[in-house]
Amino acid sequence: MASAFKPTYPQLAERPKGKQIHNIYRERLRMFTGQGQYKKQNLMSKLYDARMSGSPNIELHVWSAPKLSRPTFDEATKKGNEYRKAKKGDSFGPSWSTHWFKVQFTVPEDWSYNGQLEFHWESGCEAMVWSEDGKPLQGLSPNNRTEWILPSECREAGEENTIYIEMACNQMFGNPTGGDTIQPLDPHRYFSVREADIVSVNLDVRALYYDFWIVGDAAHSWEEHQALQICTQIMDKFIAEDGSDACIKDCREIAKRYLGDKIDSADVYKSDKMPLVQGIGNCHIDTCWLWPWAETKRKVVRSWSNQCDLLDRYPEHRFVASQAQQFKWLEMNYPYAFDRVKKHIKEGSFQTVGGSWVEHDTNLPGGESLVRQFVYGQRYFESRFGQRCRTFWLPDTFGYSTQLPQLCRLADMNRFFTQKLSWNNINNFPHTTFNWVSLDGSQVICHMAPAETYTAMANFGDVTRSVTQHKSMDQDATSLLPFGFGDGGGGPTSEQLEKLRRCRGMSDQIGERMPRVQMGGTVEDFFDRLEKKAATGETEFVTWYGELYFELHRGTYTSQAANKRNNRKAEILLHDIEYLATLATIGGDKKYKYPKKDLDEMWENVLLCQFHDCLPGSAIEMCYDDSDELYAKVFKTGNRLLEDAMEALGFDDGSRGSLPKAVNTLGWERKGLLHMPTSTEPKRYGFIDGGINVSNVPKDIAASVEQVDSDVFVLKNKDLEVKVEGGAITSLYDVKAKRETVPKGSKTNQLVIYDDKPLYWQAWDVEVYHLESRKELKATSEAKITEAGPERVAVSTTTQISDKSWITTTVSLAASVDSNQPSQVDVDAEVEWHETMKFLKVEFPTTITNTEASYETQYGIVRRPTHYNTTWDMAKFEVCCHRWADLSEHGYGMSILNDSKYGFATAGKTMRLSLLRAPKAPDAHADMKRHHIRWAILPHAGPLDERTVRAGFNFNYPLRTASHPNPAKLDKLLSAFKLTSDSSPSLIVDTVKRGEDDEDASNGDMPAKKGRHVILRMYDSLGGLSRGTISMGGVKVGKAWKCNLLEDELEEMSIGDEGLEVELRAFEVATFKLRLE
Ligand SMILES: [Zn+2]
Repeated sequence: MASAFKPTYPQLAERPKGKQIHNIYRERLRMFTGQGQYKKQNLMSKLYDARMSGSPNIELHVWSAPKLSRPTFDEATKKGNEYRKAKKGDSFGPSWSTHWFKVQFTVPEDWSYNGQLEFHWESGCEAMVWSEDGKPLQGLSPNNRTEWILPSECREAGEENTIYIEMACNQMFGNPTGGDTIQPLDPHRYFSVREADIVSVNLDVRALYYDFWIVGDAAHSWEEHQALQICTQIMDKFIAEDGSDACIKDCREIAKRYLGDKIDSADVYKSDKMPLVQGIGNCHIDTCWLWPWAETKRKVVRSWSNQCDLLDRYPEHRFVASQAQQFKWLEMNYPYAFDRVKKHIKEGSFQTVGGSWVEHDTNLPGGESLVRQFVYGQRYFESRFGQRCRTFWLPDTFGYSTQLPQLCRLADMNRFFTQKLSWNNINNFPHTTFNWVSLDGSQVICHMAPAETYTAMANFGDVTRSVTQHKSMDQDATSLLPFGFGDGGGGPTSEQLEKLRRCRGMSDQIGERMPRVQMGGTVEDFFDRLEKKAATGETEFVTWYGELYFELHRGTYTSQAANKRNNRKAEILLHDIEYLATLATIGGDKKYKYPKKDLDEMWENVLLCQFHDCLPGSAIEMCYDDSDELYAKVFKTGNRLLEDAMEALGFDDGSRGSLPKAVNTLGWERKGLLHMPTSTEPKRYGFIDGGINVSNVPKDIAASVEQVDSDVFVLKNKDLEVKVEGGAITSLYDVKAKRETVPKGSKTNQLVIYDDKPLYWQAWDVEVYHLESRKELKATSEAKITEAGPERVAVSTTTQISDKSWITTTVSLAASVDSNQPSQVDVDAEVEWHETMKFLKVEFPTTITNTEASYETQYGIVRRPTHYNTTWDMAKFEVCCHRWADLSEHGYGMSILNDSKYGFATAGKTMRLSLLRAPKAPDAHADMKRHHIRWAILPHAGPLDERTVRAGFNFNYPLRTASHPNPAKLDKLLSAFKLTSDSSPSLIVDTVKRGEDDEDASNGDMPAKKGRHVILRMYDSLGGLSRGTISMGGVKVGKAWKCNLLEDELEEMSIGDEGLEVELRAFEVATFKLRLE
């Protein structure tokens, strides 16, 4: 039956109707919420129902903290502090100063019915709201978080309320000069109080503002047709009804046609459709960078307090934070805020990730430092919150050591989250979610957020990029979206949470065109699902073997040289103390106690300085004043601890006729020259030959030097002949191998200088084009003999670099006293450095051919190309090494050792050690001082093997000499925990220490366990199956276990007559726990 309704399509066109011109209509959208000329006409004009400001409703009084101090609440509010009257418009400074405002306000009678009342504070710098009784309530930061919602107790009409505002004269990114983030700080900045008002907010208007924002963003995408119509209708409605309260509600109804009707609560996330993007709040706070540690402590309390408030108001919100150090600071300085965080951790909404002490650099710290980052991190999280972290969270670091997956697994973490690799400026890393595989084969599931930021603004684009930039969708299309303002911006805002609700509402409304974002899940939920897929074989993730080399920030291997040197020396000192203190608790004075508390403090300080803007050299000058002070403390405590341990072992000052004794803290027999203690010996050197021999070295192994021509010297020993001409080495002849190692016409140990102006990030980057500016530096003085043998010979030369800078290098050769080790040419350099944007290096041309060179890294070796075949090869024009780099061909090789350097390059046959840079931002005075650097050239017949590995250790760990009344009595104890001579020479006993929870050593953080234990950390250093036996040297050991880094027992081991037999796979790091009887 035909319908009764008959539409009549008119025969004649009634009027013209044009096609909407999208670019004009799209541009119009800005008029609705913009701050420009229409702001008094548009939606924003309706945002506040009322506003009050100034006296008598709001009274401001201020007390400025003296100098640049950062007083506590109690100090700031104590009797006698004079609070003077202040008003809006007053300005405060200078940079880094702190000003406490007492804010007294009364809500007027006729406001009592109004909706949400907020206190708005805008001073252009960071601030914190405190309650009258000293509770830190919430952080404020310019632009993105200027409101504090008045709690009900502050809304009593006619009642006076008091709060305090702690104003800190710095912005999120400190106080840079001239508005360029990385320029050195301007100490004279002032900030004026622009807003100190109480407002009544129209929440419908604010909600419509969020609606319009997200629909408007969609109107700029493939969604332009529908979304643009919705926006246009909203604007037209608003205009037609003059922005009345009723029309705001109608406008919202129009928006909901597109966003769905559940966007006003967390219910929007309650649908069973599979989400793709997991939103997770975070606030990446750099532990120092463009501000000092002292400011970080406040950034933490501000940011995390904000999050506790938001977690209460938004049930779907989840927030993650890393860095045990930041939690510890909060615990020590802000117990109220810490308890608030703890409560939310217990509820599961505030989540701990990372498992490390700080978000540290991973290129430069030594192996044991990486281990301790996890040990101190995980133990802190476990002791305070009853749980370890399961995900290593390190979004922002400048390259990723190849052994991280192994160490993560051994620290109870199977997952790794990061981001920085998206900054590569040469090659685009090809994966988002993948298995990252260590040198030893250990793997973690790695995820890099495809939105390519760890502080997303939670916009439409962040959600869509989570799919459009996802590179592993073949395996799994889900991703994490870490959002929130970082670095003192205070983390996620309510605005961001509102926007995400609307993004989700939109997906459920319009379908697959918008990736579905989910909230309320955890990072662990996200990885659990991936891990399950991998475990069940549902998905086989793509693998990436070896380091995640960062194609940027290569200057950070070299910038801030003193800091890097302090790190290396502190690691060595800690190693030696732990070894000697362990022995002292076993065979030393009965009264001696393992100095766990002091060691913990030393470690925590060293670990703190390894933060990813501190050790790499990318922080401002203030941060290095701080770290210098901390290192000085570390060395002071360390030297005392070392003396205490030595004394407990019976060493003395030699005054009672005791004899010199060498203390070797490394795992193999050493025969090198050693400096004699001046207190007992007139002779400068001794050498080890059974005991310490102080007679002259035998003629056949002695070193000699002679001048053969004007400014030409020849240094010789049994193994090498070194010709020094004009300060450089023109011939380095290997006597036994009958091989000249310097190419004809070349000079090795040649100083070279480069122009060093990267594209932007000065302290961070050295760019590929710097290589083209190479200039040789010529010695400006004739060389002179400074040591004439027979133990050691040396020749010194000075090179004037400029009118302000010079370098004196001393090339030396020692008697070849150790028949197991090839001889090396040692170089000592004293540099006075005052250059601008220059890079000093030392070059070693060789006669060796290989397409790959080897570099020591933590617990292993990384091989990298010596050529520029592909862009991936070329990107590695400057790389990181630890104690040595090596270029070997079949039958012969050359190693370059160093005592404090990390930057290196091998191009073709030329090796190059990076010495000093001269960036002027963010520290205008970086490295402008005296430096002392040592390196060595070690030619070797045969392949790269344990001789280089050991030489690298020997060069860095001095043989210590001290006096002992009965040195022979110590021999047995000093032989404990070393490998027997038939063990694989690739095995290294790297660390000897006491158990973390031993009852006589525990720091009380975790429950002490019965018994006393020795912990041995070992590794295979050359990349092959290694077997060996660890001798107990008479120490009685009852039981032994293989354990993880956290000293959890994994399997029991048996102890044979010779000691503990171990077998390690290639580049495996293994920890053994021995229970003492
Ligand atoms: Zn960072």
